[in-house]
Amino acid sequence: METTAKQPQVKNYINGKFERNGQSSMDVINPADGEVISTLPMSSYNDVDLAVQAAKAAYPAWSGLTFKERVQIFFRYRNLLEVNMDELTKLVQLENGKTYGESKAEVEKSMELCEFAVSMPQIIQNEVQEVSKGVECRIERKPLGVVASIAPFNFPNMVPHWSMPNALVLGNTMIMKPSELVPLSVMRMAELLKEAGLPDGVFNIVNGGKDVVEAICDHPDIKAVSFVGSTKVAKLVYQRATYNLKRCVALGGAKNHLIVLPDANVEMTASNVVASMSGCAGQRCMAASVMVGVDKIQTIIDQMVVDAKTIIPGVNLGPVISKEAKERIENYISAAEKAGAKILLDGRGAVVAGKEDGFYVGPTIIDYVTTDMSVATEEIFGPVISIIRAKNLDEAIEIENSSNYGNAAAVFTQSGALAKQVIDRASAGMIGVNIGVPVPREPFSFGGWNESKFGVADITGRSSIEFWTQNKKTTIKWNAEAKTNWMS
Ligand code: NAD
Repeated sequence: METTAKQPQVKNYINGKFERNGQSSMDVINPADGEVISTLPMSSYNDVDLAVQAAKAAYPAWSGLTFKERVQIFFRYRNLLEVNMDELTKLVQLENGKTYGESKAEVEKSMELCEFAVSMPQIIQNEVQEVSKGVECRIERKPLGVVASIAPFNFPNMVPHWSMPNALVLGNTMIMKPSELVPLSVMRMAELLKEAGLPDGVFNIVNGGKDVVEAICDHPDIKAVSFVGSTKVAKLVYQRATYNLKRCVALGGAKNHLIVLPDANVEMTASNVVASMSGCAGQRCMAASVMVGVDKIQTIIDQMVVDAKTIIPGVNLGPVISKEAKERIENYISAAEKAGAKILLDGRGAVVAGKEDGFYVGPTIIDYVTTDMSVATEEIFGPVISIIRAKNLDEAIEIENSSNYGNAAAVFTQSGALAKQVIDRASAGMIGVNIGVPVPREPFSFGGWNESKFGVADITGRSSIEFWTQNKKTTIKWNAEAKTNWMS
């Protein structure tokens, strides 16, 4: 696939073949210049059903391979990601708008996710014990069958790799539903999986929107669904999938708080906070959204403004995903201004020469935000940070705790004792100490708390092994005596 501006038509991928069967169509837009780069099919229940039938047919042979045989394919696939790094990076850049460096980091993370998946035969040993004389109990992890994964727009390459390698290596077959805004990277994944030797039907793609998601939640032959996206949709998917008796983990939105204490290192803190709020144009579920500044932190704020001024739309800052997203973000900034907050750096109205139709918002720093303002409570999902001033650490932690979300929280300080208070008391699943984007690296698992995640398991790491498998418990008698001290 060429990564020139115009891309081939997006197609569904079913049983190892790309196909498009007269579904209605939607444009795929390059957010950097507003140009239409492809079109995608808006699929229906029937298309999901075709993919499920293919995945069902592929399941017996795929799940019948040994673990070690399945991982061989993923060793090859991980290397293909590396060999094709530049092309995959440019594809992410084209459909999502991120900078080259941000896009490359995403593909590198996908490689790390595959490295975890291929390590699974080394970390999963089934359990066996002689529980009575001559009687043995064993527990084995078995795949679930056909599973599905639904992805958001903000990581076209990485988020599909949160679920796909682990679920497949564990013996499941899969239906992937990419975001309709960024469907290109996943098509290329399918080609590389095939090149690596993945049998047809093990990995399938159905493109589209709400109808496809609802069909996945309803289809009786899909056993488990992982979802990543906004909290509003995560709730709908979790409710609908579990109502239909499926396993579900649904990751939602975020409003991440960074607590900055007066003893924090000025340069490091300013640079980390600014990188966290503006990286990927603020469109990361781990991005800093609220900075709670405790006591005297003015020098840190001044340095943040200096640092943020070096982030230039179209140079080292990509666009946001759509015209609607740009408008929504700018409306939040205007609402804060109207409510009395002070805009220290204003990213509204950003225009990039030669890309006037791109969806750019510059880095924005809003000070003197109060807890009742929409910029303090709602997910903005743009390069914007709201600063709330707190008297002391207790008040700062209370502000963090009052959020409905709970993906990430961080503290910036040189005091271990104060950092420990935040580690213990923050209501979030992933905590950073002097780190603005505290994404756990493999093998540590990824997942938030509160309305940032519904379901028990995390989506990656060891926790995902539980999610994508079920335990088979077998009790075996090897003792020829009629009676043993076994309890039945
Ligand atoms: P989204 O919820 O709009 O879309 C996610 C998926 O749901 C897409 O595949 C989309 O087609 C589908 N969808 C959209 N509306 C639907 C509906 N009404 N019914 C059924 N399906 C529907 O999310 P997005 O805008 O693509 O992604 C951004 C959001 O994802 C942000 O809120 C961000 O915080 C969140 N996110 C969270 C994590 C996390 O780990 N918690 C990671 C990445 C993104």
